[in-house]
Amino acid sequence: MSARLIDGFGRVHNNLRISVTDRCNLRCTYCMPEEVAFLPREELLTFEEIARVVRVGVGLGIDKLRLTGGEPLMRRHLDRLVALLTAVTGTRDISLTTNGLLLNEQAEALYHAGLRRINVSLDTLRPEIFRQLTRRDGLKQILTGLEVAQEVGFHPIKLNAVVVRGVNEADIVPLVRFSRENGFEMRFIEYMPIGAEPWERAKVVFAHEIMECIESEVGALIPAPDYDPRSPAMEFCFADGRGRVGIIASVSRPFCRQCNRIRLTADGKLRNCLFALEETDLKSVLRRGGSDEEIAEVFRANIADKWEGHEINTARFVKPLRTMHAIGG
Ligand code: SAM
Ligand code: SF4
Repeated sequence: MSARLIDGFGRVHNNLRISVTDRCNLRCTYCMPEEVAFLPREELLTFEEIARVVRVGVGLGIDKLRLTGGEPLMRRHLDRLVALLTAVTGTRDISLTTNGLLLNEQAEALYHAGLRRINVSLDTLRPEIFRQLTRRDGLKQILTGLEVAQEVGFHPIKLNAVVVRGVNEADIVPLVRFSRENGFEMRFIEYMPIGAEPWERAKVVFAHEIMECIESEVGALIPAPDYDPRSPAMEFCFADGRGRVGIIASVSRPFCRQCNRIRLTADGKLRNCLFALEETDLKSVLRRGGSDEEIAEVFRANIADKWEGHEINTARFVKPLRTMHAIGG
């Protein structure tokens, strides 16, 4: 049997996305309901449990980690987990996706623990639209957090925006200009059916529309020379050499054929797809004192069950029971 995580379609999995909490200090409409019961603390994997899962995963070929949530900076002492994970040999790449609200307080400790790359979600530069999308205030605090993260030395800093038709299309151009002027990489994500509010295709602003808008208002885009075809984002540079844009076209151009990702939820379940309807329980194996080989077996079993692709674009699509905040984005 292969020591690597290869599924029935020949896809090799080297990328583990780790959710450290389902809690969040925002309530983005496309991600989670306004009222929600969070997991009891004892259900969350401890940092030591996460590090053990990662050690076993590294033995199976995992070499890319992303910390996410919920809001990962809501998990206390996250820098301690970063330090534990950077110490696991074989993990060449650790990154973090955050809403940025607590970056001003934590950027320095995270950098010192070994983190270098962050993605910060920012859908708008207008306070009223920020409130509409996140059901909270905090835009100013995020902008301060971005400045602090840059001063501390994080590079690259990518800004992620979900574009919802009728809400924030008008932010596409200002966000691109803001990122070009301030040394951030801008990424747009097509709105996916994984939140709590009813999703319709009509609300998705498609990749080609986003590109047309940027090219007509800001400048011509050319494919980035270092573009990695396994990355979910299509990457472009501005022809004038100033700035980059990525577009994650999960709906209009699904990247399932190249998928190399597996997810660990905050409560210790493995998911082989964001849209998977089934999860494989790792926590019970960890907590009954299971061996590393048993943990490896759970990884293999989860990957063996992976479907060919998500079915967002078909009538067969069934939305997973958990919403994005509880899966890990
Ligand atoms: N709280 C952190 C944040 O917002 O960056 C990390 C978790 S969040 C679930 C990860 C990413 O998922 C964010 O960039 C968010 O915009 C994206 N996301 C959430 N719901 C989405 C949806 N329905 N469609 C597309 N992207 C979504
Ligand atoms: Fe929280 Fe991130 Fe979901 Fe927004 S997208 S509610 S910040 S987990």
